[in-house]
Amino acid sequence: MKTMTDEQKKRLLSAIRDIPDFPKPGILFKDITTLLNDAEAFKLLMDHLQARYEAMDLDFVAGIESRGFIFGAALATRLGIGFVPIRKKGKLPGATISEKYALEYGFDEVEIHIDAFRDKEGAKVLLIDDLIATGGTAEAAVKLIRDAKGECVEACFLIDLTFLEGTRKITPLTSVYTVLEVA
Ligand code: AMP
Repeated sequence: MKTMTDEQKKRLLSAIRDIPDFPKPGILFKDITTLLNDAEAFKLLMDHLQARYEAMDLDFVAGIESRGFIFGAALATRLGIGFVPIRKKGKLPGATISEKYALEYGFDEVEIHIDAFRDKEGAKVLLIDDLIATGGTAEAAVKLIRDAKGECVEACFLIDLTFLEGTRKITPLTSVYTVLEVA
């Protein structure tokens, strides 16, 4: 499996902007819009993801709302496969399956269309999001893929906030690949 050189990782990290206290005090928000509008950095990332995943014989890329849509859809079209959105509750118009997950206070819920994988039982699916923090969202998304009769072969994140140890929730369920680790 292809991984990035330290120099390439530095280039990507330098394209991601830290915004303190967003969306609430105490959170250091990793803003990837400055990577998206940096054509060279965005291409570097997408070339890397394409090289990593083109030999995997995937059927679909599933992206988590909303930044997972950007990377996921770009990757899917490069791989010549379909893209599936996993959305917050109430946004998908067709029949859905939903999965609740715990937040610090209360619950949130994500959904997938019941026919997202076009009735291809055992479809090989790559899950993608921009960032894994506590891992709750991604854990729910992996379960949704399974409930929609797909097989999540890997979960991929551009950024892993390693101090929150979110990947520990995911590794019992599927393989995890993180491009950048932030301590
Ligand atoms: P979690 O379920 O805690 O792993 O949260 C992951 C989701 O929240 C991802 O969709 C991220 O885009 C978003 N998120 C959480 N923390 C941050 C952060 N510090 N900077 C940017 N996005 C974040």
